[in-house]
Amino acid sequence: MMLTNLISKRETEHKRKYPDVELIRLGIGDTTEPIPEIITSAMAEQALALSTTEGYRGYGPEQGNQELREAIASTVYKDLGVEWEEVFISDGAQCDISRLQMLFGSGVTVAVQDPSFPAYVDSSVILGQAGGLDEHTCRHANMVYMRGLPENNYFPDLAKTPATDIIFFCSPNNPTGIAASRSELQQLVDFARKNGSIIVYDCAYASFISDESPRSIFEIPGAKEVAIEVASFSKFAGFTGVRLGWTVVPNELRYATGSPVIMDFNRIVTTCFNGASNIAQAGGLACLSKEGQEALRSRRERYRENAEILLEAFKSLGGARAYGGKNAPYVWVEVPREGRGSTPSSSRRSGWELFDEILERSHIVTVPGIGFGPGGDGYIRVSAFGHRGHILEASARLKALLMP
Ligand code: PLP
Repeated sequence: MMLTNLISKRETEHKRKYPDVELIRLGIGDTTEPIPEIITSAMAEQALALSTTEGYRGYGPEQGNQELREAIASTVYKDLGVEWEEVFISDGAQCDISRLQMLFGSGVTVAVQDPSFPAYVDSSVILGQAGGLDEHTCRHANMVYMRGLPENNYFPDLAKTPATDIIFFCSPNNPTGIAASRSELQQLVDFARKNGSIIVYDCAYASFISDESPRSIFEIPGAKEVAIEVASFSKFAGFTGVRLGWTVVPNELRYATGSPVIMDFNRIVTTCFNGASNIAQAGGLACLSKEGQEALRSRRERYRENAEILLEAFKSLGGARAYGGKNAPYVWVEVPREGRGSTPSSSRRSGWELFDEILERSHIVTVPGIGFGPGGDGYIRVSAFGHRGHILEASARLKALLMP
């Protein structure tokens, strides 16, 4: 059964058991704050124009409206030398992850961070790249799992990582909330260059970075020859329901034969997509205007403060270790069985145990870390997307808990 189904099953049972209790949902990473009006009014204007003879537009360019592609190249990639023709507008990062997988096909080898966003492994399973699942280790036979640990900033040990054709890398990472540093990303780019790998760099949470960590893989010298970047308006602007994102495929990225990858991606987009909604694209353009960016900043700041509140609440639990929160709206938590002290594996709670305990005792829904790969077991992910009242209530309930 899918993780989301398992969580909603437990949620339903809990509601049956405690019908009068208010459940706080910090599980699924969906945005909760409204979209600033400067952005929704641009979308409304575009929608109304469709009712006029002069304003009506049908199909647009499959790669996206040039104005939006130019705006992304000049604002998000200012000074990074990304050409607007290298930017492909999408209906979201998740959709482009699957389109890229279609481009790669079933005959490639794939590495993923462990833990990481499940779409990379799931799409590899669908394409037939992954191999059978070992129920004991929770690993697919043909996937390379790049284990991240708190003591190495969740950055994998590349010296022990076998070479693969494709490397999915997400920074800031979902679920750990941790962003890779410049030197770590330089190691990753050098590793890909040495092995002839393509990095699919997912920066869906880049706008939440609050320190000097790179926001784009293209800040790293040499990345254009080895990386594709997948990005999204979902978390940046609350477009999870509007649906808009983009992918950058640099002209410099070539197959071993010398032929450019961008030509094949263009073919995938024109064959399997047909372009993002023109209403959503009008919204995207408004997000990137000076006023739009300003309006979005305070919204993001609210989520960041939420993450700080949750981080502090978990840290106050006896022995809990909580990570992330600073560069992405997720907090990644481990609570040992024996209270304070070290966490040898025998004294660790499994992610499901922790999930159940927090649900039972504080009526808060989280996500067990195992849903993000075998390396996530023993942890839960807590989302900071939520209304402030709920976050404060969750924090108060957590602080009232005295974990045995
Ligand atoms: N990439 C990561 C790392 C995510 O966490 C998510 C959504 O949670 C997505 C991509 C999906 O983004 P989109 O809504 O643009 O499809």
